[in-house]
Amino acid sequence: MSCCGKKATGNVIKRATRKTKNIATGFYNLLTDKERYLSDRRILVCLKCDEIYHYSKAIIFCRVCKCFLLAKTKVEDETCPKGKWERLNNVK
Ligand code: SF4
Repeated sequence: MSCCGKKATGNVIKRATRKTKNIATGFYNLLTDKERYLSDRRILVCLKCDEIYHYSKAIIFCRVCKCFLLAKTKVEDETCPKGKWERLNNVK
């Protein structure tokens, strides 16, 4: 398998597969209102961050990872590219 003329390594394929799964999980959790507690805490951190981009009131993205935050914050496996969600892991 190749992309842009380069051979894809096993790690690239694994990362792409994981990311695709997380995107699907994030949108599923958003549509079914799952992981609300996790998402609410993460969104509060993002709202105080300089890297947040408000496309509209409800559509917000991260300028660093380019992710749609209302979905990304609902996936336990996802992380903030600047490590700003890490302190939330110790708070229950
Ligand atoms: S994911 Fe991290 S870097 Fe991006 S907006 Fe949220 S807190 Fe900021």
